[in-house]
Amino acid sequence: MDLDCIIRNGTVVTAADITPCDVGIKNGLVAVLATSLPPAPQEIDATGKLVLPGGVDAHCHLDQPMSGGVVMADDFYTGTVSAACGGTTTVIPFACQLKGGSLKDAVIDYHQRAEGKAVIDYAFHLIIADPTPVVITQELPSLIKSGYTSFKIYMTYEDLKLNDHQILDILALARRSGALTMIHAENTDCIEWMVKRLELAGKITPFYHAVSRPMLVEREATHRTISLAELVDVPVLIVHVSGREAVEQIQWAQNRGLRIYAETCPQYLFLTEEDLAATGFEGAKCICSPPPRDKANQQVIWDGLANGVFHIVSSDHAPFRYADSKGKQIAGTNGAFRYVPNGVPGIETRLPLLFSEGVGKGRIDLNTFVALTATNPAKLYGLYPRKGTIAIGSDADIVIWDPEREVTITNEILHHNVDYTPYEGMHLSGWPNITLSRGEVVWNQGEVLASKGRGQFLPCNLSTFARPKA
Ligand code: MN
Ligand code: MN
Repeated sequence: MDLDCIIRNGTVVTAADITPCDVGIKNGLVAVLATSLPPAPQEIDATGKLVLPGGVDAHCHLDQPMSGGVVMADDFYTGTVSAACGGTTTVIPFACQLKGGSLKDAVIDYHQRAEGKAVIDYAFHLIIADPTPVVITQELPSLIKSGYTSFKIYMTYEDLKLNDHQILDILALARRSGALTMIHAENTDCIEWMVKRLELAGKITPFYHAVSRPMLVEREATHRTISLAELVDVPVLIVHVSGREAVEQIQWAQNRGLRIYAETCPQYLFLTEEDLAATGFEGAKCICSPPPRDKANQQVIWDGLANGVFHIVSSDHAPFRYADSKGKQIAGTNGAFRYVPNGVPGIETRLPLLFSEGVGKGRIDLNTFVALTATNPAKLYGLYPRKGTIAIGSDADIVIWDPEREVTITNEILHHNVDYTPYEGMHLSGWPNITLSRGEVVWNQGEVLASKGRGQFLPCNLSTFARPKA
């Protein structure tokens, strides 16, 4: 067999195995794994390096239309370049329906935003903000058949939130169709009540964002999500779980045999609510929902990664610039926390953070790292085995990972279009040296080689995690 490229002398790691071997690539696919292969036109020396499946970041926001004059800083070009430089080769951002608008139109619009820009492959989740009868009976069934097999729904945010009746309608559709529902679980009335009380007391600085959304509003909504899913008898995935009380609900449900899947994000492993109390308005940089908790809750999230409560670690990359009137400072630096767009950037730092502090510090093993960041997201969203593993016939989406490379994170070394990183100054061990997407080197030790627009749209199969029961 004439191979196009060989990755030599590395250690191939999948969710299941750790194998010292060469990887042969042909036509953008993994063609052969062997202990020794004849020469090929392109050879990559991976001596002393790990050869990992490219990361799948299944929760990130790129160029998503926002309300109230807020603009996301990353489009599909800067966002996917940043992802590739951090070892991610597939992203799944969100095509978001506006209230009163068509879901189908939102998907058409989102394709226009991605085409000609993405440098790695991408799929879309849907966000359902307005589950009208037309959406439920016509648009969604047709979109699911066309490869949009997962959707996110919200229990909070004025322009996105659904009531329990609407959520049940969507869960019933998910059950009928085999699609996977992702839920943002926070109790919206509790939050609004708290926000109003804090504002009346003049407590409007970024820190009070965390005060307005205590753990119990997430705990209650997590439990309610589980109950609604149990009523309909359908699996759901709870996104961005932040701490102990939500984890306890999820474990309780999983122990009862319910198919409740869970995601967490680096901000719940590395940030705390103290970061929102930074001097001046700086705390706005770390405003996200749910908010980061405390050190004890970080430990609970680490434990959940090691013991299988969590299936997936995503970035929830939400690119809002700090010193920008279309970003975190939309209401100025004296503005109330309620106006600050929610979210932190992290599409490039997701894998290095989890590798260094997870694998490097012995909290999770290498196979779990790959499962959480690549294999499980690909399975959850119907992209496996094309994505998320290194196996014969899979896309050659591969990261040559240098486990020894010492890096201090600064915003300067990152490739997103955001003007800060919440992880500024952190020292990490391990960083991607080379990223390949479908056999093409898109990032090579400091150099971005990807051509704009080379990324392809990936229609998703039904989730293997959400398959209806026999
Ligand atoms: Mn959310
Ligand atoms: Mn999000």
